[in-house]
Amino acid sequence: MFPVDYHLHTGLCGHAAGKVGEYLEEAARKGIYEIGFSDHLPLYFLPPGENIPGYAMKEAELPRYAEMIRSCAENAPVRVKLGIEADYVPSCGEKLSSLLSSIPFDYVTGAVHFIDGWGFDNPAEMEQYHKRNIDRVYERYFTLLQQAALSGWFDVMAHPDLVKKFNFRPARSLKPLYEATARAFKKAGVCVEVNTAGLRYPAKEIYPAPELLEIFFNHGLPVTLGSDAHRPEQVGEGFVEALKLIERAGYKEIARFDGRKRSFIKISSF
Ligand code: ZN
Ligand code: FE
Ligand code: FE
Ligand code: ZN
Repeated sequence: MFPVDYHLHTGLCGHAAGKVGEYLEEAARKGIYEIGFSDHLPLYFLPPGENIPGYAMKEAELPRYAEMIRSCAENAPVRVKLGIEADYVPSCGEKLSSLLSSIPFDYVTGAVHFIDGWGFDNPAEMEQYHKRNIDRVYERYFTLLQQAALSGWFDVMAHPDLVKKFNFRPARSLKPLYEATARAFKKAGVCVEVNTAGLRYPAKEIYPAPELLEIFFNHGLPVTLGSDAHRPEQVGEGFVEALKLIERAGYKEIARFDGRKRSFIKISSF
């Protein structure tokens, strides 16, 4: 019934619930052809010994995560891929690259969750929006997102307008930022994630916004699909709406990955 859900978390990150097997069962029940786990990569950009509690798995747990997903993929009721959601932080590429090359991932999803140290999508840091110029926040967010894509580390760009999560909306037009982002993504050769988690938050809107998805389509950027499930029942959540949005933008296929190589599944076969 649905092609892929490429954005699932596991208990290892410290803020998701349920067992990996429960995510698989839920995916099978909802008729998802292929799922991919993309739990949070360890916070490689913090000084050694520093941590944000409950944010991501520890570095020592990364091989265990990969092993856990690989072993659950055997005899699973659905096809399972191994991904990772990696934060983009400028000028930390060396550490990121060594972590990414230590595991044979099927895909690497790049995410901007920090604007110059501010965890802008973290409810605990939401107060900051009241103290900042929202137009500048959006400008900085999309600049970082473009840099992330152009860094070359990532196959997929996660929730590409996450900055709207708490529904603080800019006064300025977003069109020029959208266009610049699509150009950078195209140059970088990345795929875009349509992520339904935005429906669960005050923005009440899928990431990316319909206008941004249309611009991505017009620039020839491929899309994949993810729920960002942090509990088993969220697998495939909002996918009827997401596929409508994707098809309305003009897409006929969804990207999937094997060993960081992209291929496509026709939407019409579901
Ligand atoms: Zn998470
Ligand atoms: Fe994320
Ligand atoms: Fe996520
Ligand atoms: Zn995410």
